[in-house]
Amino acid sequence: MAGVAFKGITKVFGKDVKAVNNLNLDIKDKEFMVLVGPSGCGKTTALRMVAGLEESTEGDIMIGDVRVNDVPPKDRDIAMVFQNYALYPHMNVYDNIAFGLRLRELKGFFWQVSHAGEAKKIKQDIDNRVREVAKMLDIDQYLHRRPKELSGGQRQRVALARAIVRKPKVFLMDEPLSNLDAKLRVQTRAELIRLHRQLGITTIYVTHDQVEAMTMGQRMAIMRDGLLQQCDEPEKVYAYPANKFVASFIGSPPMNFIDAKIVQSGTGVYVDCDEFKLPIPASHPAAGMIGKRVTLGIRPEEIFDANLPSNVTPTDDNTITAKVDVLEPLGHEYVAYLSIGKLSIIATIDNETRVKEAQVSKFAINLDRVHLFDVETENAIR
Ligand code: ATP
Repeated sequence: MAGVAFKGITKVFGKDVKAVNNLNLDIKDKEFMVLVGPSGCGKTTALRMVAGLEESTEGDIMIGDVRVNDVPPKDRDIAMVFQNYALYPHMNVYDNIAFGLRLRELKGFFWQVSHAGEAKKIKQDIDNRVREVAKMLDIDQYLHRRPKELSGGQRQRVALARAIVRKPKVFLMDEPLSNLDAKLRVQTRAELIRLHRQLGITTIYVTHDQVEAMTMGQRMAIMRDGLLQQCDEPEKVYAYPANKFVASFIGSPPMNFIDAKIVQSGTGVYVDCDEFKLPIPASHPAAGMIGKRVTLGIRPEEIFDANLPSNVTPTDDNTITAKVDVLEPLGHEYVAYLSIGKLSIIATIDNETRVKEAQVSKFAINLDRVHLFDVETENAIR
């Protein structure tokens, strides 16, 4: 077992494509780390550098205590699972799973009569391991089938089995669920989490899907344009996004962003967006920024129908009056498109609501969960 560390890793393609820019990231032994970000942010390149499929331009990659920059991929003791499964089409499931093991462990023994006994033992051990892993992934009934005779989900499980059977130090997974339909994705997601708990192998999982990142990662590292934006536990990233990009990337529907200004009114300090203003506690750093333009961020789920019971008690300070333009039913809740004068915001409200489209009603905002961002740097002010 081993952790993985990126130490000042930069990767430049050609003259000027900086795919990864001075990445510093420590992935702990046995940790499940998700690298997440939009297409082109550099997450696959980062993963490929750990695998040894791509050389870094600067910096060191560590697996455990070993600097692996110059270690060939086959000697890094990693296993990689891709989106497209990459199974051998002419081999059955059993051979697909056993192939890598045979290559590594029987090498040199196969043709030597003097080692026949040893080779037999190794073959038996491989057979045990293949069957054990196939059972673990519930594909033991398909061992004789070829990949083309399997569904997408089953193929992905064979690819996982092939990776697991080697008992590597590190798993690298690049969008392994992308080719599965929605239901199977959710199922396989849960299965991967379970497997990780069972095996405790350090895992780096690449995805562009924030839901996967939130649900699977013990920690998640959010990247943008080759730069690491934030790395923390999913709940913390959600509650305390480091900047506007992270705030907009995590959460669905996305956070509302509203142009505003810090103002003083009487003895209080407020964040004022013309249509309404919300109080800022004296202890908040923004309270000392009177006159500064900021971006106010409010998650849709922190806006409540003031006529329904909720965790937020409506007061003069936290309640806004808004017109309901559109109500989209999702079953368990509504997505409400609200307008307040010139402002448009989105709220997710309880399905017990009585509000109707075109109606003007009161909504309470959870002031403990309001975010402020610097207009120039887009960093969170807190
Ligand atoms: P996706 O989710 O679309 O796979 P990603 O976040 O994994 O995206 P990378 O594939 O790591 O992003 O690519 C990062 C940047 O590096 C992109 O701008 C991409 O075009 C560029 N890039 C990747 N591989 C190469 C290459 N072999 N040659 C030149 N540029 C490359």
